[in-house]
Amino acid sequence: MNAKRQYLSYGRQSVDEEDIAAVAMALRGEFLTTGPKVEEFESDFARATGAAHTIACNSGTAALHLAALALDLAPGDAAIVPTVTFLATANIVRMAGAEVVFADVDPDTGLLTPDMLCAAIQRATAKGLRPKVALPVHLCGQVCDMTELAAVAGASGIAFIEDACHSLGVANIGATQHSSAACFSTHAVKAITTGEGGVVTTADAAVAARIRRLRNHGIVRDPKAFENRALAFDGADANPWYYEMMEVGWNYRLADVLCALGISQLKKLGNFWRRRVAIASLYDRLLASLAPTLRPVPHGDRPHAWHLYTVLIDFKALGKTRASVMRTLHSQGIGTQVHYIPVHQQPYYRRRYGTFALPGADAFYAGCLSLPIFPAMSDDDVRRVADALAAIFR
Ligand SMILES: *Cc1c(COP(=O)(O)O)cnc(C)c1O
Repeated sequence: MNAKRQYLSYGRQSVDEEDIAAVAMALRGEFLTTGPKVEEFESDFARATGAAHTIACNSGTAALHLAALALDLAPGDAAIVPTVTFLATANIVRMAGAEVVFADVDPDTGLLTPDMLCAAIQRATAKGLRPKVALPVHLCGQVCDMTELAAVAGASGIAFIEDACHSLGVANIGATQHSSAACFSTHAVKAITTGEGGVVTTADAAVAARIRRLRNHGIVRDPKAFENRALAFDGADANPWYYEMMEVGWNYRLADVLCALGISQLKKLGNFWRRRVAIASLYDRLLASLAPTLRPVPHGDRPHAWHLYTVLIDFKALGKTRASVMRTLHSQGIGTQVHYIPVHQQPYYRRRYGTFALPGADAFYAGCLSLPIFPAMSDDDVRRVADALAAIFR
């Protein structure tokens, strides 16, 4: 036994001396909050994701909230959210004052499918709700088929906001060809990190401008937009101190110092992703003998960011509970996690919308377990996890 071996959490950040130097340099500079690093991070992020416009903000949740507000999601509206996701995807709908319509997901991939979207639209309409937005989640780093989802939603006028918090690293994931916006998180556990942070990408210049305004208290500083002209102008020129607030906004800005970290991290995204791909394919190989009781979430050769390496386990066939498997692994220094408890099961949402069955989500939830995957994991670490699992299956 190697006593010094590291606890393997299901995911963790990779921060190196270059990142630390970049942050130290920003700290020595003039701007800690809104400075030149913000725009630099935004344009680097645009290049990395194929996005036309990018807006950095201080969490993935803020990114989703801003995108929803920019699409005018408001009280009286509804939004469709796949129930297998992090709480934030649903909560931002409530933050905007709209109602959540939970969609079921594919039992094998956990993804929103065109059929599930269709069913959710019908359920919403039957309840007299008007779905304005749908939020497909690219769970684990997989990518929903946006072309097909858009085809289903086509006639209904529903706009898409992609929850891409798991999928940074997939080519053109921010290009939003079939959506109004895509939202990313740069929380410590995600593909790259700024500690806390988020980014919205969009191809729509008007949506981008609205999001920028909402990120900063609803303030505009462009004299062309000023409405209160008597206060705004001194002759032909705008008063030097002057700004106007057009709507209620938030302080969702991402600090310059954190953008410096993001710029440095983004340079490594390609290498991080390649390492994740290698770890996933090693897992695929090492775990193949545990089928069919254990099988990885099927991925074929579709694009994948490998934010999570999630397996589906038939715990009944195994004769052990998920809790006992997690405890055994934990005692051997191996962290695992369940992504996610279906959000419609949360007490808040049960009280609001009652209890109902979403069988695809229930099936996915019953079997899913996320194993450690992060760029600094060695092949030996991966083997250690696979061996520990194999021992449980013997
Ligand atoms: C991380 C995450 C979020 C929220 O991001 P934060 O930066 O933690 O606010 C939203 N949706 C999904 C699917 C996530 O994984």
